[in-house]
Amino acid sequence: MTTKHFDDVIIGAGQAGPFLAGRLAESGRQVAIVERKLVGGTCVNTGCTPTKTMVASAYAAHLARRAAEFGVNVGGEVRVDMKRVKARRDTIVAESRAGLRSWLETMPNCTVIEGQARFESAHEISIGGDRLTADRIFLNVGGRASMPAMPGLEQIEFFNNSSLMEVDFVPKHLIVVGGSYIGLEFGQMFRRFGSEVTIIEMGPRLVRREDEDVSAAIHGIIEREGIQIRLNAKCISFSKRNGETFAQVDCTSGDPEVSGTHVLLAVGRVPNTDDLGLERTDVTTDKRGYITVDDQLRTNVDGIWAMGDCNGRGAFTHTAFNDAEIVAANLLDHDPRRVTDRIPAYALYIDPPLGRCGQTEAEVRQRGRPALVGKRPMTKIKRAIEKGETEGFMKIFVDAETNEILGAAILGPGGDEIIHSILDTMYAKAPASVIQRAVHIHPTVSELIPTMLGELEPL
Ligand SMILES: Cc1cc2nc3c(=O)[nH]c(=O)nc-3n(C[C@H](O)[C@H](O)[C@H](O)COP(=O)(O)OP(=O)(O)OC[C@H]3O[C@@H](n4cnc5c(N)ncnc54)[C@H](O)[C@@H]3O)c2cc1C
Repeated sequence: MTTKHFDDVIIGAGQAGPFLAGRLAESGRQVAIVERKLVGGTCVNTGCTPTKTMVASAYAAHLARRAAEFGVNVGGEVRVDMKRVKARRDTIVAESRAGLRSWLETMPNCTVIEGQARFESAHEISIGGDRLTADRIFLNVGGRASMPAMPGLEQIEFFNNSSLMEVDFVPKHLIVVGGSYIGLEFGQMFRRFGSEVTIIEMGPRLVRREDEDVSAAIHGIIEREGIQIRLNAKCISFSKRNGETFAQVDCTSGDPEVSGTHVLLAVGRVPNTDDLGLERTDVTTDKRGYITVDDQLRTNVDGIWAMGDCNGRGAFTHTAFNDAEIVAANLLDHDPRRVTDRIPAYALYIDPPLGRCGQTEAEVRQRGRPALVGKRPMTKIKRAIEKGETEGFMKIFVDAETNEILGAAILGPGGDEIIHSILDTMYAKAPASVIQRAVHIHPTVSELIPTMLGELEPL
C-alpha cells in the first residue's frame, strides 16, 4: 500500500472535475483527479454526445423520408444502417474522450488516477490498495440510471442509456418506460431508425415538469410519428412469453398489456454517492442520496465540495460545468459566484427541440404577481413554414409591472439555440422592451420574438 499526498483531490472526471483540475493545477496546486471508468463521464460517453449524434442520424433519416415534399427524389425505401450510425457516434465520442484525457494527462501539476475512490476519513481516500490524502476534496461523482423495483424485471433483458450504446441493430419494437426527457429522445430517434415504439409513462402526461400546453404539443409531435403513448401506467410489470417481452401497464384505458421485442428503462437518475464511503465522513446527503451543499457548493464538512449531478442542484452538463466555475471563482479569483445566480435553462432534444429558460407558466402563476404572456405558433413563423417544420410554438412571460422577463419556452426549429437570446437578456437583467425593440434578422424564427413581445396579454 502506498500513501500519497496532494493539495487537491477531485473524485470523478465528469463535466466539472476536469475544468476545476485545470484551474487548480494552473494556480500551482498539486492535483489528483480520480476516475473509475471513462474520462468525460456520462455526458461524453453515454449521455449528451452520443445521444445528440444519434438524434442527428435520426433527423437525416426523417428528412430523407420527407424528401419528396421538398421536391427531392431519394429513390426507394429509406433504411438506417445502425452499425454505421453506431460507428459515427462511437468515433465522435472516442475523439471527445481522448481529447479530454490527453489534456488532463499532459497538464502540469495534475495526476490522473484510475480506480474507484472511497473515503477512509474526511481527508483520506482509498483507491484499491492505495491511499491518497488531501487538504481539499472535490466530489464530481455524477449519477446513473435508476433501476426501479418493477415486478418481472428479472425475467427480461432491458436497456438503460448506458447499455443501449451497444445496440447496433434496429429493434423491431422498442418499449420505452418513461415519458420524460431521456425516454422521449430515445423513443423518437428509434422510431425514425425504423423501430415500432411504445412509450409508457406513469404520469397523466408526457414531460410532466413542463407546462400542459408544452406537454400536449410534444405529445402530438411524438404521436404523429407513429409512436404509441400509454399514460397513467400506474403499476408496470414485465413478463416474457415465447421470446416476446410483455409490459403490463394497468392503464385507465387501452390494452392492459403491451408487447415488444426490447425494453428501455428511462425512469430517472440516482447519484453515485452510495459507494463513496461517505459514511466515514460527516458529509450529509438528502433522502435521495444527493450531497447537501451551500450556495458556493461547500458540503457541511470543511474542505469538501460537491459539484455536478451528485449535489442535486442541477442535472445538466452546463450546470455541472458552472458548478466548477463557481468553485474556481470562489477559491482562486476572490469572486463570490453562487449557484443561485444561475437561471434555469435546458433543452429537450426531440425534433423539433424544446428550449426552456426561467420560470414555467405554472411557476409564474404561483408568484401571485400580475404577469403578461406572449405566444406564437410555428405555423405563423415564415422561417418555420419555409423549412417545412411548423410543429410547436413559442411563449414568453413578462412581469406586468417591471417588464422583467420571467421565463420562456421555444418548441420549434432551432428552439435549443434561439432560447439564448431570451436567456442572455435575462442574465443582463434587461427589460423585455430591449428585445422588443431589437431588429432581428429575416427570415429567422428569432425575428418573431420581438413581435411576440409586442402582443403581450394578461396571463
Ligand atoms: C441519455 C442522456 C442524455 C443527456 N443529454 C444531455 C444533454 O443533451 N445536455 C445536458 O446538459 N445534459 C444531458 N444529460 C445529463 C448530463 O449527462 C449530466 O448532467 C452530466 O454528465 C453531469 O455531469 P457530472 O460531472 O455531474 O457527472 P458525470 O458526467 O456522471 O461524471 C461523473 C464521473 O464520476 C465517476 N465516478 C463516480 N463515482 C466515482 C468514484 N467513487 N471514484 C471514481 N470515479 C467515480 C464516473 O465514472 C463519472 O465518470 C444527459 C444524460 C443522459 C443520461
